[in-house]
Amino acid sequence: MKCAAIVGINWGDEGKGRMVDLLTEQYDIVVRYQGGGNAGHTVINDKGKFALHLLPSGIFREGVVNILGNGVALDPENLWKEMSEVTAKGVPVTPDNLKISDRASLLLPWHRDLDELEEKRLADKKFGSTKQGIAPFYSDKYQKKTILAGELFFPDKMKSHLKDLMEWKNLILTGVYGAEPYTMEKLEQWIDEFCAKIRPFVCDTGSFLKEAVKEGKSILFEAQLGSLRDLDYGIYPYTTSSNTTAAYAPIGSGLPSARLSDVIGVVKAYSTCVGEGPFVCEMFGEEADKLREEGFEYGAKTGRPRRVGPIDLVATRYGVEVQAATKIALTKMDILSYLDKIPVCTRYIVDGEETDRFPFPMQLDEARPVIEYVDGWHCDISGVRKWEDLPKAAQDYVCLIEKAIGCPVAYISVGAERESIIYR
Ligand code: GDP
Repeated sequence: MKCAAIVGINWGDEGKGRMVDLLTEQYDIVVRYQGGGNAGHTVINDKGKFALHLLPSGIFREGVVNILGNGVALDPENLWKEMSEVTAKGVPVTPDNLKISDRASLLLPWHRDLDELEEKRLADKKFGSTKQGIAPFYSDKYQKKTILAGELFFPDKMKSHLKDLMEWKNLILTGVYGAEPYTMEKLEQWIDEFCAKIRPFVCDTGSFLKEAVKEGKSILFEAQLGSLRDLDYGIYPYTTSSNTTAAYAPIGSGLPSARLSDVIGVVKAYSTCVGEGPFVCEMFGEEADKLREEGFEYGAKTGRPRRVGPIDLVATRYGVEVQAATKIALTKMDILSYLDKIPVCTRYIVDGEETDRFPFPMQLDEARPVIEYVDGWHCDISGVRKWEDLPKAAQDYVCLIEKAIGCPVAYISVGAERESIIYR
């Protein structure tokens, strides 16, 4: 039995969706174990171009069972919309290929409102939330003030539970933020319109996974965002509200006994970051605009222009450690083909001293990057499929990264399409 996790090493948007879509060929089950619909995985394959938010990226493969584990922020409204979009493009989504954990907590309608109200209150001190309700959701989950998906099978009890939560939440909505209170009528509409639609997909996924292990099935755990957004190990408070690390996969998937044989860390050949917060290697001006355009670096969920920079070896090495990655998938190598000289952030300067250690979050504001330049390859590599056929400068770039981060690069992606990959 093979159990592997695929995770982001940096700030997210590394191309995980593209890698999961490719690797699902080798797995029977794909499980999303944390996060919600607040980020996007872009997947291009024979079925078309898709921006997935909550659905596991194995949804496109026939015979693969996709699971939304107990660790995800399950937003019935957005999930139903996403399922409908994917189905409309000819990809079947049925209770056979999508299973939702009965222990997943529901993201409730007020979570999105609270996200929006709090960002408005923070004004220029805002965190750059995607306003999908993720932080209010996880806060409430840990306060034990959400509803479990399995409660949908007990409608009367669920409504009474929801009413108690609503009464408490209305105190905050009206008292703290001066917003409109919720009514049960409104919530019942939400139950009928969205929860009822996803209910047929809800089941005991923990038992399903245990059985699958007994039968020797292989499982891929799919993470959202990257190491630097991990609640405990990331650039707090500019993190997400869940654990994006591979170590959380057994907990958030519903298979606490899982032992990972492989952790595939996805690293982009340069850096991008969405939203607020420290981003030491950030580039500005024309150099940044050019890289953003070449890499189409605009958020899959929000359309926001991403902040860009050279590959950051300090942050990437830290990300590899945090994920305990065993191999790396390096994506978007083709994007750097336009450069004569490729910038690389090799160290930071913190308190006047050069360091290769990723600093404590509060020190990141003062950290400055040390940028070195290496030779570019300056030719189109998007058609290359073999390591030997990569130009020497491109091979050197991969080897430099590999050496600096202490983890082998096993895949090199040279295009967004499924087959644009070099196995090494
Ligand atoms: P994710 O959230 O980590 O899955 O990343 P995103 O989907 O937000 O961003 C990755 C983007 O890069 C998507 O638009 C992909 O289609 C695209 N992409 C992934 N790998 C490659 C690659 O090797 N080359 C090019 N040109 N595009 C890629």
